[in-house]
Amino acid sequence: MKFNEKLENIKTYEAGKPIELVVRDFGIEPKEIIKLASNENPYGCSPKVQDAVSKIVSKMALYPDDSMFQLKDKLSRKFGLADENVIIGSGSDQVIEFIMHAKANASSKILMNSVTFAMYEIYAKHIGATVIRTASQEHNLDEFFDMYTKEKPDIIFLCTPNNPTGDALNTQSMMAFIEKIDSNTLVVVDGAYMEYAAFKDKSKSVTPKELVDKFENVIYLGTFSKAYGLGGMRVGYGLADAKIIKELYKLRPPFNITTLTLEAASSALEDEEFVNNCIASNFQEMKRYEEFAKEQKIDIIESYTNFVTLCLNDTKNSTLLSDALLKKGMIVRNLSGYGMNAIRVTVGKPEQNSRFFELCRELL
Ligand SMILES: *Cc1c(COP(=O)(O)O)cnc(C)c1O
Repeated sequence: MKFNEKLENIKTYEAGKPIELVVRDFGIEPKEIIKLASNENPYGCSPKVQDAVSKIVSKMALYPDDSMFQLKDKLSRKFGLADENVIIGSGSDQVIEFIMHAKANASSKILMNSVTFAMYEIYAKHIGATVIRTASQEHNLDEFFDMYTKEKPDIIFLCTPNNPTGDALNTQSMMAFIEKIDSNTLVVVDGAYMEYAAFKDKSKSVTPKELVDKFENVIYLGTFSKAYGLGGMRVGYGLADAKIIKELYKLRPPFNITTLTLEAASSALEDEEFVNNCIASNFQEMKRYEEFAKEQKIDIIESYTNFVTLCLNDTKNSTLLSDALLKKGMIVRNLSGYGMNAIRVTVGKPEQNSRFFELCRELL
């Protein structure tokens, strides 16, 4: 059978290996497997979220509230915006998909960093749009501006902090960059890890309200999958000028968020203290990775997220290392597919990190 030719050169997104797969493939007990591969919050979500969700499980027969009033209201208050500035997606992934369909077509160019979140390219290819990338590993706004001027992209993706490298843009420089972009080019600021960056360094912190108030051509993306510990619930959001949100809504399938998910996200916003404590532990534990890297003479990229990227030198191979770790029940992300001889490790709980160091000392 012949399929849409746009699909021909798309590589299927490779998610972090689930624990279930390692159980099956290597016959390791589930409780002995440690997954540090998908930047989930190792402490999970607030216990208040679990309570709230378990109280409404009887509502499963009914379709969800498609207006998503409660969650939109909480988000708009949190960010000092109006409901008309908010769209909720099944993960911020779905919002990226809406953005692509709303703004791009087969003759569009989509500008992004050399190394960045893989889904931008995949959604761009769904449309048949052309992906163009800067050269440097870190976001370099001069390179972005150069390419913007030469190539006239329809969408520019800024991922800050960036996945899978963990570095973050200086907010002032980012604002100055966006100011130079014409109003018909959409700038996407993906803040999937912004809660972490804002905690660590105020100069990297982006306030969505400032973006939305100042620019009609910017959309900010946030997610509940990382700091809020709700990866399994699939919920994220986009914040932008009402005119952008209105267009994205035309692409939204009805009931794209489940009743339980809406409840989970709403109640997660009621317990920011839980999230802040998790973030504090994250950076406490991250110091151990920095020490470990020093001890092993491995380069570590300064991270504003809940993961670290360890760049191996020529004598070590990231594919061999991640495969060897996997056989021991330790799941990390190999970055060879991004053209890097590096692994990305989610900062886990203290005992999980200790196990990672122990296995690496054995294997390196
Ligand atoms: C995890 C992640 C997302 C989206 O995750 P969802 O689970 O779909 O909300 C978006 N961008 C980046 C950079 C991410 O790392």
